[in-house]
Amino acid sequence: MKDIYELFQNEKEYEGFDLEGACERLSKAVQCRSVSDCEDPAPFLAIHELIKRSFPHIMAAGTFEAVDRSVLITLPGSDPELKPALFMSHIDVVPVVAGTEKDWTYDAYSGAIAEGCIWGRGTQDIKVQVFGELEAMEYLLSQGKKLRRTVYLAFGQDEETFNTGAQAVSDLLKSRGVSLEFLLDEGGGGVDSGEKYGAPGATVASINLMEKGYADLKLSVESKGGHSSRPFGGTSLERLSRAITRVCDHPFEPTVCRTLRATFEAIKPWVTEEPLKTLLEDIDANEEKIAAYCMGNKDLFPFVTTTIAPTIITGSSAAPNVMPQNMSAVINFRLAAGYDPEKLMAHCRAVIDDESVKLEFLQSNAASSEARSDGYGYAMLKEAMEHYYKDVVFLPSITIGGTDAHCYEQICDTCLRCGPFMMPQNEQGAHGTNEKMRIRSFAQGIRVLIRLMDRTCM
Ligand SMILES: [Zn+2]
Repeated sequence: MKDIYELFQNEKEYEGFDLEGACERLSKAVQCRSVSDCEDPAPFLAIHELIKRSFPHIMAAGTFEAVDRSVLITLPGSDPELKPALFMSHIDVVPVVAGTEKDWTYDAYSGAIAEGCIWGRGTQDIKVQVFGELEAMEYLLSQGKKLRRTVYLAFGQDEETFNTGAQAVSDLLKSRGVSLEFLLDEGGGGVDSGEKYGAPGATVASINLMEKGYADLKLSVESKGGHSSRPFGGTSLERLSRAITRVCDHPFEPTVCRTLRATFEAIKPWVTEEPLKTLLEDIDANEEKIAAYCMGNKDLFPFVTTTIAPTIITGSSAAPNVMPQNMSAVINFRLAAGYDPEKLMAHCRAVIDDESVKLEFLQSNAASSEARSDGYGYAMLKEAMEHYYKDVVFLPSITIGGTDAHCYEQICDTCLRCGPFMMPQNEQGAHGTNEKMRIRSFAQGIRVLIRLMDRTCM
């Protein structure tokens, strides 16, 4: 694949933009240790204060509200005919893995500005988008631009865990009767080779129109244990592992959802490899074959099916000749389009077919709905991305992890997930050691946001 910076264009635009200041503000945000499950609200409140004192034009034009630890900024537009837009992401970060603190070139919460990068936890996921959105809006307002469309800026407090912050902000907006034209959240955007789609000559990036659902299913089996010479009826370990393998041995039927169909429509002209080249000539007629092909491909299978990943098992015996007592396991599922937790539970009960195995969800949400790829929001975002990234094929696609965006479906039918800050592929390291943001990528992403906000909201 090409050097990422060969894809950058129009970097001279918005020359008066204060990039140095923007880097310092992002650095300060990284220094606030806003780990999702941190008991102390102080790091979150410090980010609130940082926002309030750093963006005077936003504060003058709008209203800042703390919704618990989350942030909602309302910037009223002059044209009531235009439905509002929401630019969002989250201020929480995942923790640094214990024991790896010393592996960081610069301390994980230093926000060091060095070697052309801003370093630290959250620089890629996703304080870059929080501050990028703020910088873009501040710049436009400082240039004397006025909002025609009402804009909300919303930053959740627990995207990495429970999404309660985004849900609370969404509920608040709903209670105010808000209905959005579109929203932009993280997810997607990263540049990649088209190889997995049979298009090795293409460079692709995704604008995600849906996200998969999420479920942690706990399986519990009771037993008093005892001497292992009398395992009548099977040990708890035996019954539990049988239940797990039964679930894994019954994968969910693969399907090509509307969004994946749009992905294939968009990549089709660049596909040179079989079998996809021939199959995509008639997607309708070959839908089943395409689904089956994806199912056997390690990169594409999450797009066509509900994935099954057993992750935790607890309670095994400490001695070889003692039967285990109560045991439990957790299977993590990522639900494909059209799947919800009720359907998933029914499926699991049927295939396990053992009433002594108790099933309960620790956490679950259905797959999101699918935003339109032919609507206003998608077209405007794609235009802004294409303006700054040349020779990239933008594909409507699916977020296979989770984001906060699904919490807003009750007030928005165009939830777009795309990070405009393109990093070299070998430096894409959200949640990892030495997470960092190249200043050049930060600047280019801000240009995308300025253009998008200017053309859609001013
Ligand atoms: Zn994130």
